[in-house]
Amino acid sequence: MAPQVTRPDLTFNVAQLLREDIGGRRSHEFAEPSLTLDGTLALRDVRGIVRLTRTASGVLADARATGVVDLECIRCLTAVAEVLTITFRDEFHARVEVNTGVPLPPPDEDDPFFISENHMLDLGEAIREYALIAMPMRPLCKPDCLGLCASCGVDRNIAPCTCQEQRGDDRFAALRALLDE
Ligand SMILES: [Zn+2]
Ligand SMILES: [Zn+2]
Repeated sequence: MAPQVTRPDLTFNVAQLLREDIGGRRSHEFAEPSLTLDGTLALRDVRGIVRLTRTASGVLADARATGVVDLECIRCLTAVAEVLTITFRDEFHARVEVNTGVPLPPPDEDDPFFISENHMLDLGEAIREYALIAMPMRPLCKPDCLGLCASCGVDRNIAPCTCQEQRGDDRFAALRALLDE
């Protein structure tokens, strides 16, 4: 078997594009087996398409990607493979002028994305940020998940539990006790 070469698939060399006039563009398809999001979370099976357009201060990326993130259903704790669709348009600013290497002034923008000094654009950085925004706040295995019983812990999607009935019985027992007094 041929050795597995790890290619930085989400990194694009934009040196040529930076030498073109404003409006020059390229499209790329990309795929990446796994992208670490934060701590233990990873976006796997990342696929997408990006259009890169030369702007006055760098490159505008229009990207659309999908990826799968492994979460847990908040009601029953079952593993949920959530497919995220990530769409964004963001500008990556050049740090240096491509022909002369002269440093460029930083953009007037909070938390901008940058193209590295050797003209590499790391789309993974942007995909990571937008994936975290696209993450569901309350992941569910299915919209009508019944969840775990708070008393006995049984997964009520799989088997009903008798906790409700027993609680009913307890109430009747209390009433009976009152009548008996
Ligand atoms: Zn569930
Ligand atoms: Zn129960």
